[in-house]
Amino acid sequence: MPKSFLSTLTGSFSTGAAENPTVAMVEAAYRHHGLDIRYINCEVPPDLLGDAVRGARAMGWVGFNCSLPHKVTVIEHLDGLGESAEIMGAVNCAVRRGDQLIGENTDGKGFLKSLMEKVDPRGKSVVMFGAGGAARAIGVELALAGATRIVVVNRGVERGQTLVDLLNAKTEATAEFAAWSGPYAIPDGTDIVVNATSIGLYPDVDGRLDIDLDTLKPGMVVADVIVNPPKTNLLRDAEARGCTVVDGLGMLINQGVIGIKYWTGVDADPTVMRDTLTEIFGASD
Ligand code: NDP
Repeated sequence: MPKSFLSTLTGSFSTGAAENPTVAMVEAAYRHHGLDIRYINCEVPPDLLGDAVRGARAMGWVGFNCSLPHKVTVIEHLDGLGESAEIMGAVNCAVRRGDQLIGENTDGKGFLKSLMEKVDPRGKSVVMFGAGGAARAIGVELALAGATRIVVVNRGVERGQTLVDLLNAKTEATAEFAAWSGPYAIPDGTDIVVNATSIGLYPDVDGRLDIDLDTLKPGMVVADVIVNPPKTNLLRDAEARGCTVVDGLGMLINQGVIGIKYWTGVDADPTVMRDTLTEIFGASD
């Protein structure tokens, strides 16, 4: 007989929940580690988010992920924020600590953990394409991890400049905005290049960042946030020029690993999570 019939509960609140593969990845890890924990993937419309959070509190959930469009609006329903979530003004992971629900942001932390397998950003110079939610999370974590210079290249000037202003005001990094009109030349001395735009995301699989490919140099580390497909044109182009590449699966897997650690204290095995995602999206090699 099982010791208890009451499972620990975690989950996710988003719209478009049916396309979010996190549940498959996290439950594979729970099974692998023999944890009696569920991850309930919930479709929650914006006007009912408060009810969903109150429901999670009432049912004693140990935490939940928040995806689009709730990452900012969830904050008003929580009791406090972790350091990077506070700077970003966005939460994708709520964690029950005592009787409080605290908002963390594991998007950027997951990216950082994945990047660190290839390069430590401390003291490094970064070019990052994009200025949306993913870019904001990644930019803040790179800055908190000691990246010295971050050039934000974005199509929309206002969004790009807002992110630059945030990084300059709230972190030690020096950030600057670069307009993206015509092929962008990666400046000499750049160590890390990040695609944090949605270019290349299925079904736009032929999409390609408008960059001067000859400025991608061996020795640069080139990272992409795109999960589907994991091998984007940017990563193909970068590999062909001798760069080290980091795919978007690592970011997704590691944010799962960090979330599970927050909720349960368990260090989840990323291999079983990558195997699950590879089954869903295909391999990146
Ligand atoms: P947002 O909508 O907040 O931002 C999208 C960004 O992409 C903006 O900077 C936008 O520029 C830019 N962009 C979109 N299309 C184009 C284009 N055709 N040309 C130039 N720039 C373009 O999205 P998110 O930041 O939330 O997500 C971005 C990507 O990151 C998504 O593909 C998402 O799947 C991925 N992601 C991956 C995660 C992972 O774990 N691997 C986690 C989170 C996100 P502009 O401001 O000019 O509109």
